[in-house]
Amino acid sequence: MIILLGPPGAGKGTQAKKLKAAFQLKHIATGDILRQEVQRGSELGKTAGKLMDAGELVPDELVAEIVRNCLEGLPEGQGIILDGFPRNVWQAEFLDRILDGQNVHVINIKVDEREVLKRLSGRRYCKECGKIHHVSVPPSHSLDRCDACGSALVQRKDDREEVVSERLNVYWAQTYPLVNYYSSRNTYHEVDGNREVSRVFESISKIVDTIGHDRV
Ligand code: AMP
Repeated sequence: MIILLGPPGAGKGTQAKKLKAAFQLKHIATGDILRQEVQRGSELGKTAGKLMDAGELVPDELVAEIVRNCLEGLPEGQGIILDGFPRNVWQAEFLDRILDGQNVHVINIKVDEREVLKRLSGRRYCKECGKIHHVSVPPSHSLDRCDACGSALVQRKDDREEVVSERLNVYWAQTYPLVNYYSSRNTYHEVDGNREVSRVFESISKIVDTIGHDRV
């Protein structure tokens, strides 16, 4: 199992999708699952949506249950990427308990705060296929349509400036301590996430190659 760590806007989702395709991994993104619940209007979605729109974390027990369900029933030996989980020490301890000694490789994508702000304010995603775009990156800059499927691009509610600052506060207070939680393990890795997507992917792929992707 691979955990992608890093602040909002580090590129965890983008890199996870590329890793999934390159290494046939199962991608579990708690933020994506929660957004689907919001869209479906489920009870979970109603509870989660308000917190997400405010940049707060959804209660640990709810997210832990989602992750437990996703992990259950996966074929033996299936490699997994966790994106957006764990988000705090409680969740990391929960994961350690359910994995019961199974190896977890943590890849921390380090990005400067200025870069994060630039990325989040310009981020747009496709409501249909989920592809992430940035207003400054051609060809998307001239389009309000997804360059993969042609559907409308939208801004995540929590990418608005006032919510981004709260998400960063939450990151530093609750998620950043996970670096300390994992960094003493020899399965902890760091990459420089300030570079372009393909360069970051190269670095991450090298790590996954050395782990041996049949064991992730
Ligand atoms: P993300 O797409 O990972 O940026 O997540 C979007 C939002 O979903 C977060 O700001 C939280 O409100 C919620 N969320 C996602 N993952 C978690 C998690 N592991 N624990 C609590 N809340 C989460």
